[in-house]
Amino acid sequence: MATQKRVRTRFAPSPTGLLHIGGARTALYAWLVAKHFAGDFLLRLEDTDQARYSPEGLKSIFDGLDWLGLKRDEDPVIGGPHAPYIQSERKDMYHAAAKVLINKGHAYRCFCTSERLEFMRKEQQVQHLPPKYDRTCLKLAPEESDKRAAAGEANVIRMRIPDEGAVVCQDIIRGKIEFKMGDLDDTVLMKSDGMPTYHLAMAVDDHEMEISHVIRGEEWLPSLPKHVLLYQFFGWDAPEFAHLSLFLNPGGGKLSKRKGSVSLQSFIKAGYLREALINFMVLLGWNPKSEREFFSLDDLIQLFDLANVNKAGAVFETEKLDWFNGQYIRRKSPEEVLELCRPWLPGDQEDALLLKIVTIEQGRLVKLSDIQTSVVMFTETQVNYDPKLLIWKKMTPPVVVDRLKWLIQHVSEMNEADWTVQAIETSLKEHIAADGLATGEVLWPLRVALSGRQNSPSPFELAWVLGQEKTLSRLQAAQGLIQPLV
Ligand code: GLU
Repeated sequence: MATQKRVRTRFAPSPTGLLHIGGARTALYAWLVAKHFAGDFLLRLEDTDQARYSPEGLKSIFDGLDWLGLKRDEDPVIGGPHAPYIQSERKDMYHAAAKVLINKGHAYRCFCTSERLEFMRKEQQVQHLPPKYDRTCLKLAPEESDKRAAAGEANVIRMRIPDEGAVVCQDIIRGKIEFKMGDLDDTVLMKSDGMPTYHLAMAVDDHEMEISHVIRGEEWLPSLPKHVLLYQFFGWDAPEFAHLSLFLNPGGGKLSKRKGSVSLQSFIKAGYLREALINFMVLLGWNPKSEREFFSLDDLIQLFDLANVNKAGAVFETEKLDWFNGQYIRRKSPEEVLELCRPWLPGDQEDALLLKIVTIEQGRLVKLSDIQTSVVMFTETQVNYDPKLLIWKKMTPPVVVDRLKWLIQHVSEMNEADWTVQAIETSLKEHIAADGLATGEVLWPLRVALSGRQNSPSPFELAWVLGQEKTLSRLQAAQGLIQPLV
């Protein structure tokens, strides 16, 4: 990668919907490239499609980048030497650029109505021809075109693709790609509403903003030759390009909304940690060339290299993300996990209790939101379950009653001052051994009485969190539940 020029990358989303997880990865890669070379990372809003503009989408871009920790050096809010960073506020620049292209003969006005274009497209379909503008308006004399435009006739401006030859493009990830001129369409650069299309706006902005590397999704690869041509038409040096492969569903196909939520926000709401998402996302496409799996943002600034980004699509495996999330949760202190879990915790419970719950659940949490079910288990006044669940293997209900009585007796004899997971475990196990009881026959009913579930933290952890009094009352409630079966 050439590094003579100051490295400047940008994330250029269109605020049309919630920030997609793929967009978040594009931003991450662009940020990493900039930071790796101690360069600048910019945010530019591409809002030229006003009909699809979404304020919620706009907010999700800022919130998402902030949440990921991707600080901008220049953006629409903090400004910068190339402000404004919002395309709808840069219209004059695009008009001037379009005029330059018309004057140089690289663009022309087109007055064809949408009905005519529709008719043309249908004809092409019938003849099995690729959809392409038939250049009717290219035949107009420049004076006539100017006159009709000055008279207010609606028109668009199209780029004039050269008649022959090919455009040779370089992509950092994909290498050299050649596109034949004959396969390219005279694409619209300026719409009849006076707004530029993406093609013109991005070329002008990336040049004006001195972008050194355009890092974007693979869906823009077919447009690359048009962009490279635009740079040639203007006589500007083109930036370097890197097109990132799309995320794929495990079953194949582009990661889509139909198979679940795909916005960054939905992952945040589900309880994924920033570190886990970053680690997971960066490996969806980037090959660290080692067995190493854990990378912090700082590590990535050192190591990330576009040259090691894969061409093939990356399969989005939620299980892997879950695994990373669990790993990052385990690496934190219970106090930190408690703070991270806050959005999912009730406001009316004491921190001391919540911290205990987090302490025993930390090793099991996959997503932070999983804490909710656990909290319910400890705070509900009455635990509801099928009394038969209290029965361990071949135990009979009278034996269950016996063991519950035994438990009530021993738990009440315990010293509340010594109420730790370890002390509870040691004391109960010693008594079980002393009385020659089968461990499962005591600990199973204890677990169910305290949690109402077959899968739960250990019975000693449950008792520790609940405290002596609640432990006893749940054991008594269990006794009442099993009695009718005796
Ligand atoms: N506005 C385009 C998008 O949201 C940006 C593509 C680019 O980065 O050039 O996909």
